[in-house]
Amino acid sequence: MKLLITGGAGFIGSAVVRLAISRGHEVINLDALTYAGRLENVAPVADSPLYHFEQADIRNRADLDRVFAKHSPDAVMHLAAESHVDRSIDGPGDFIETNVTGTYNMLEAARSYWVGQGRPDDFRFHHISTDEVYGSLGEDGMFTEETPYDPRSPYSASKASSDHLVRAWHETYGLPVVLTNCSNNYGPYHFPEKLVPKVILNAISGKEIPVYGQGLNVRDWLYVEDHADALLCVLEKGKLGRSYNIGGENERSNIELIETICRLLDQKRPGSEPYEKLITFVTDRPGHDARYAIDPDRIRTELGWRPSVTVEEGLERTIDWYLANEDWWRPLLDREGVGTRLGHG
Ligand code: NAD
Repeated sequence: MKLLITGGAGFIGSAVVRLAISRGHEVINLDALTYAGRLENVAPVADSPLYHFEQADIRNRADLDRVFAKHSPDAVMHLAAESHVDRSIDGPGDFIETNVTGTYNMLEAARSYWVGQGRPDDFRFHHISTDEVYGSLGEDGMFTEETPYDPRSPYSASKASSDHLVRAWHETYGLPVVLTNCSNNYGPYHFPEKLVPKVILNAISGKEIPVYGQGLNVRDWLYVEDHADALLCVLEKGKLGRSYNIGGENERSNIELIETICRLLDQKRPGSEPYEKLITFVTDRPGHDARYAIDPDRIRTELGWRPSVTVEEGLERTIDWYLANEDWWRPLLDREGVGTRLGHG
């Protein structure tokens, strides 16, 4: 397939680009290269004849029409977004423009292209979203695809809006869409302001590891390469107009996750003291959702997909990658905002 992947220079998008090319798909990576986008993330495949890059902004409809006309994709995987909850609290405007208006532009550009092609049934618009649209859980229960939306941060509200637009374009115009809502990703090439890399990099630099509240917020942790595999599975086998939740089947509280990272680092790069001693508890984020958990039944039973690693295995791979790739993360530590946010997704 020829895939138009938006946000392909970001954390998850680049994992999808790398995996899709390794499986023989042709990829057009459409990315504006904001602070979060880095072409180094796709360096392993950049020389492939299957790889093309278009620097374009999804807030600009004319750019999108040009890319569709030039490349005639078989499918769109839409990942470009402002993705960091803490940034959405500081400045929600960018989230509305990129996540809501940008998705609207992508839908309209895709619809115009699809109509122009004679409305092929096998065209797909795959919208990639988050479990944060469902709000927050108590100690029990899980998010299913039927859970009512209840977003609580500017980020999750902007993603919920984009999900509604995608469903509406399917119902109203017949655009062949699929949607996925995934849990917290972690893995290689994760921007250093996010929780897992932040903990690794603070620890090995001997800096405090700040934890919101008591660290009791629970997330389901999904290894990014498993997520990329699930996304290609849904694109190829998912039913039209349907949503699929994607989880790692690995629920951990933030403090459990951080302690696991510290223990793994104690083995891999021992310091003078256990890294856990660097943990400090700080005032909680406003509106911090208590717990997210994914019920993976639909993707498991309908599409036969399950994650391949436990969170301990995935964290070990992630830590090995950060220890071996300082030249990737070191320059990012100076980028705007990286040192000032705690990174909890
Ligand atoms: P990221 O911030 O690492 O990457 C986003 C990419 O989009 C960057 O390459 C950036 O340059 C690009 N981009 C941003 N604004 C753009 C614009 N206006 N035009 C074109 N490109 C633009 O994000 P990520 O963590 O890889 O997340 C990818 C998608 O997955 C997002 O839609 C996000 O909401 C969703 N998601 C992420 C997680 C997670 O844990 N990271 C969880 C659930 C869902």
